[in-house]
Amino acid sequence: GRKSLKRFFRRNLFVLFTVAAVALGVILGFALRPHNLSLREIKYFSFPGELLMRMLKMLVLPLIVSSLVTGISSLDSKASGKMGVCAVVYYMVTTLIAVFIGIVIVMIIRPGRGSRDSPMVKNGNIEPVQATDAFLDLIRNMFPPNLVEACFIQHKTVYKKIVHTRNVTVTLNLTDSLNITDPHLVENLSRVLHPIQETVEETVPVSGSSAGVNALGLVVFSMCFGLVIGNMKEQGQALKEFFDCLNEAIMRLVAIIIWYAPVGILFLIAGKIVEMKDLAEMGGQLGMYTLSVIVGLLIHGLFVLPLLYFLVTRRNPYSFIGGLLQALITALGTSSSSATLPITFRCLEENNHVDKRVTRFVLPVGATINMDGTALYEAVAAIFIAQVNGMDLNFGQILTISITATAASIGAAGIPQAGLVTMVIVLTSVGLPTEDITLIIAVDWFLDRLRTTTNVLGDSLGAGIVEHLSREELQNQDADLRNSVIEE
Ligand code: ASP
Repeated sequence: GRKSLKRFFRRNLFVLFTVAAVALGVILGFALRPHNLSLREIKYFSFPGELLMRMLKMLVLPLIVSSLVTGISSLDSKASGKMGVCAVVYYMVTTLIAVFIGIVIVMIIRPGRGSRDSPMVKNGNIEPVQATDAFLDLIRNMFPPNLVEACFIQHKTVYKKIVHTRNVTVTLNLTDSLNITDPHLVENLSRVLHPIQETVEETVPVSGSSAGVNALGLVVFSMCFGLVIGNMKEQGQALKEFFDCLNEAIMRLVAIIIWYAPVGILFLIAGKIVEMKDLAEMGGQLGMYTLSVIVGLLIHGLFVLPLLYFLVTRRNPYSFIGGLLQALITALGTSSSSATLPITFRCLEENNHVDKRVTRFVLPVGATINMDGTALYEAVAAIFIAQVNGMDLNFGQILTISITATAASIGAAGIPQAGLVTMVIVLTSVGLPTEDITLIIAVDWFLDRLRTTTNVLGDSLGAGIVEHLSREELQNQDADLRNSVIEE
């Protein structure tokens, strides 16, 4: 009756706020559009949203480190081994499925068919970005030579470019998106993107979108650190407690920020809608391309992943997803899976009651390397560009695209539009003109939000699946702990 209704509202208050914020943001955004606000005014207007982004990012670094260290150090080697294997297999399988869905959809819809209006631009004598170099750089970044510096990757930004094309402005912050350290690779990439530079008409200050951390490097370090502390037994106890406490404190900060999240999301979304240029272009090929990505993401996120979750756990995937709503909406608002991480943690632990040992282990890793949405998008975009150029791809090339799209999704940082930059690797691997990235820039801000939501969904369902698969090891460990307490 009334009481349960009340309880329902109290429990779902934040979710209701967040959903209302999205609706209000959309309404407000469209209401303000006719006023033709200047870029400066838009920046002022979306300031509350920018603040939310900053608050979330502020928590990401201590959250990644403390959760991984405590998570791993509190697991025995059997449990952590099992969990690690399950997580990696899940990441690989789902990413490959996502790529496959993307390829099938784009081959069926064929958004790029028909002749292109402008002749194909040749890459000229640009040396292509070698996939090997990109791969080695990925590995290189797993081992940051300076931990402190890894927390401030912004200082390393060597190459920053504002692309202004078809009335859309995008910042391609290469070094931040790819975590590039290899100077040769940086130069190579800048040369590849050089032709895009010629379309720059106007330089507009855009606030940096980088998460400001070499997440991959920190993830690897924290995992090893946690492992070592766990093995130190009594001797490592002090450090273990320190990181435990740090993690708890950060999660309490998350609980405060969560009150502000709906306000931030409202302005992030409204601001973006005000800023968005006319959708007139969306009619033709670009519209069909957008549709292809959306259909692919929907199939993957609403059918394939839930089915996988059901097959493994035999539980209702949609009620699990219901508990994630706030994280999914935050992903939609921030277009960064890394910035969403604090909320993802909270949803999984508080709403879905996933074991903390699991979330602490798999969520930071997932947010950094597991990006189903990005992988799907990269495959669709590359094949779309091939279609526009009237290029028939053979099986080998499609296979190459699948592999590089997977690699590019692993390499992309969990920050806005990182996937657009890592596209360069996919395109050059099959000899497609990298300048054609400009064809899809106009809609990327929108697709970025959707693929980020899919990325977060994939990480979260993965945590549920890994928990289920390693429940035996977790229970054994609980029993061991209880026994040792009794013995004492
Ligand atoms: N923005 C995405 C994320 O944070 C990455 C991408 O650009 O695809 O997950």
